[in-house]
Amino acid sequence: MHISHRQLFFDHVAQTSDYPLALEIDRAEGVYMYGSDGTRYLDLISGIGVSNVGHRHPQVLNAIHGQLDKHMHLLVYGEYVQSAQVQLAKALSDTLDINSENPSPYGKIDNVYFTNSGTEAVEGAMKLAKRFTGRAEFISCYNAYHGASQGALSLSGSEDFKRSFRPLLPGIKNIQHGLESELEKITDKTAAVIIEIVSGESGVREASNSYFRALRTRCNETGTLLILDEVQTGFGRTGTFWAFEQSGIYPDILLSAKGMGGGMPIGAFMASQQVMQVFKTNPILGHITTFGGHPVSCAASLAALRVTVDSNLSAQAIKKGQLFKTLLVHEKIKEVRGRGLMLAAEMESFEKLKQTIDLCIEKGVVTDWFLFCDNAMRISPPLIITEEQIKEGCAIILESLDSIRS
Ligand code: PMP
Repeated sequence: MHISHRQLFFDHVAQTSDYPLALEIDRAEGVYMYGSDGTRYLDLISGIGVSNVGHRHPQVLNAIHGQLDKHMHLLVYGEYVQSAQVQLAKALSDTLDINSENPSPYGKIDNVYFTNSGTEAVEGAMKLAKRFTGRAEFISCYNAYHGASQGALSLSGSEDFKRSFRPLLPGIKNIQHGLESELEKITDKTAAVIIEIVSGESGVREASNSYFRALRTRCNETGTLLILDEVQTGFGRTGTFWAFEQSGIYPDILLSAKGMGGGMPIGAFMASQQVMQVFKTNPILGHITTFGGHPVSCAASLAALRVTVDSNLSAQAIKKGQLFKTLLVHEKIKEVRGRGLMLAAEMESFEKLKQTIDLCIEKGVVTDWFLFCDNAMRISPPLIITEEQIKEGCAIILESLDSIRS
């Protein structure tokens, strides 16, 4: 007999949203999730860009089982030589062996510090930038989301999100993503700029390559580090393994998480030896973590990386994203924007979007909105989604749009 946990969820699991989707999911496979009552849902959000290779990808499961048979946690980060970590660090470095028109002054990224999450990767990167530059000021974008710890939250570009937690870190300024005239705010006091190539939680906003070139130049002129947050855009999501490959620039520090783990928790901040070495010289303990780079997560991540590269999921994301754009034409959709399978379908209002999302869920398709943009539907399915499944999902979205009040 099926026992519902819904009431227990509301009674005992801390609630952080007025509108939790509150679906009871029992298992998931590929692009589908299955409710405990047997309902099948097409997952169009991948746990917010996490299950890029799909839920429970067989190669990821094999890698996890293989690692479980060897060992789990051994010792705090960075003490023992663990093959799962080493192999993943090498494989990530290989993905970063890219000749860029606008390189980093510090060379190619070949050093990986593994963390538990995207937020911790942001924290580590901030500390690395502070120690490397001897500066304390940061610049981030309005409406950007980089995590919820005190440091990452300080970088958030949403005042609503920060207000009740002040005082936060001092010396943080915001710029508008894509607006070149604002780059003057970067000075020789700025430790680092943190930015996404495609801004996720602001509702999928892109910027031109000439903007990114100007940003890279300004950072070089002022001795500021350029941190690219690819927590959401990485691992094939936007049509290349890393989104920055399309931008013509190369970062000084790169952040990853979410899709990186193939469904397991892991993140990383990555830099060249020249930058990262400040963490191992005095004062030591640049950053420390017990579970960061957990061997089971590393094994899963390496498998996810190989699946992404070997099946060329990035190239598939471009074609599949285009199909969504072609199919999602409706008078109630103002535009569908984004790159690869990181898409946003903008509607007139939150109310209409909410009604549409509720209807989609009733009909077996899961989507949602964005943290700092509540009139756009998030469309970021597993990259392994097929054309047929895209058609199935879009038909239900269009049907739902037809039946909401105009
Ligand atoms: N950076 C970006 C761009 C993100 O989208 C997120 C999560 N939404 C984070 C950082 C924080 O990652 P995590 O939730 O793993 O801490």
